[in-house]
Parts: sequence; C-alpha cells; structure tokens
Amino acid sequence: MVHYSSEAEIAAAIDALVAAPTLLIALDFDGTLAPEVDEPLDARALPEAQEQLLRMLELADTRLALISGRALDSLEHVAHLPSQVLFGGSHGLEYRLDDGDSSLPMSEENSTALVKLDALMHELADSADGAWVELKPAGRTLHFRLSTSADAERLQAEAVARVDAEIPGLMTRFGKKVVEFAIHSATKGDAIERLRDYVGADAIFFAGDDTTDEDAIAALGPNDLGVRVGDAPSAARLRVAGTREIADVLKVLTDRRAAAVSARTN
Ligand SMILES: [Mg+2]
Repeated sequence: MVHYSSEAEIAAAIDALVAAPTLLIALDFDGTLAPEVDEPLDARALPEAQEQLLRMLELADTRLALISGRALDSLEHVAHLPSQVLFGGSHGLEYRLDDGDSSLPMSEENSTALVKLDALMHELADSADGAWVELKPAGRTLHFRLSTSADAERLQAEAVARVDAEIPGLMTRFGKKVVEFAIHSATKGDAIERLRDYVGADAIFFAGDDTTDEDAIAALGPNDLGVRVGDAPSAARLRVAGTREIADVLKVLTDRRAAAVSARTN
C-alpha cells in the first residue's frame, strides 16, 4: 500500500525547510501543477496552485523555478507567470534565467552529429507523404502520423537502422507515430544543480509526478525536500495523491515561508 504523507508529516518537513536563508522552490508543471490534458498547449496550473505561485513571488530570499520536459517556449506559454520566475526546459537543456534564455553548450562532436541527424531526418521525411521533422534543441523528431501505415512502419524502421549505423550513440525515444533522436540528454537533476548554484539556495523544495522527476529528487540533499505526486516508486521524502493535494502543500509552504521571512526581518 502506498503511504500518502499526513498533514502533520507535511507540516513538520516544511517547518524544517522554511528557516533556510535562501530558498528555491522548483516545480514540475504537467501532472504536478497542471492536470494532464489532451492538447499540451491547453495545460494550465490549477487556480489554487497558481495563486500560491504568485504569492511566492512576493517573498524575500525566495525564488520560484519551473523544471519541465517541455521545450522552453512551450513551458513559458502554459505557465502564464511573470518574468522573475526561472525556467528549466527540455529536462534541463534550456534555461530562462534573469538575464535571458540560454542552452547548455554543445561540444563540436555533438554539433556535427546534430547536422548529420538533421540531414538524415529530412531525407527520410522527404521519402513519404505526410512525414515531417520537428526541431528540438538537441535532437530531431520524425513525425509520420499523417503518412500511410506502410510508410510509417518503413520510416520508423529505416530511421532507427540508419541512425544506429551512421550516428551511433544517440538517445532514441518512441512516441505515438513519432520517433525522436537526441544528441545528448540533460536530466532534471542537472537542472536542480544549475538552479541551486544560480540562486545560491541553502535549501530546495521540489515536487514532480514522473520518472524523470526522480533525477531531480536524487539531486536533493539533506536540507532539501522532495515531494512525489502519485503512487509510483520514489525516493522523495513526501508523497501526495495529485495536483489538488500539491496545491494544498504549496499553500502550507507559502504560509510558513512568509511567516519565517517576516520573523527574520522584524
Ligand atoms: Mg510532470
């Protein structure tokens, strides 16, 4: 049986966290702040969660960040948050910090591989009606949903075989009528490390609902607090059932942090 954290467990863990001089609150978006929806660009944080995010922005010595598998543009579009929020997109490959957007630097070897991948994907897409190539920061996705099923099957098989032979060592992800190849892959753990340094955080609160969020949870230290949403296995210290429950946790976190910050300055 999965154990969901009690109110008392949540309050105790948060009380230990909010005394930190500088606190980073880092949150996954889909499935954590926002219920899952069919059309990715329609996703929105629950109003109860959004209200707490806006309150957090008023707190001294407290920074808010969203860390997502979405590309940065998509994350900014759905988040609807002011510019002082920090963003880590594409699982930590792309960032929007206070001084603008940046990507992790790519090695010369990786840049060469990306050029080869781009040419190969376009060659394959040109060989069938309805196929197209989506540009990702460190990869390419071949889409064949609108192709005939014979073409779709051939495209996927050819793409996998030729990438393996011509540009070995890439990461492959299969989706619904798409196949994606990535040159190098950052994780949400990399995003936690980068944002911890950037903010100079003494402690981090992180919440996420997916396996990729476990990389972020694994990057947390003893002064930090991780929360897993849902019932899958996790190394997180706290666990809650869903987006509604996380909104409640964020309210407790914001209330207690506000009290801690004002006690310090008075
Ligand atoms: Mg998620």
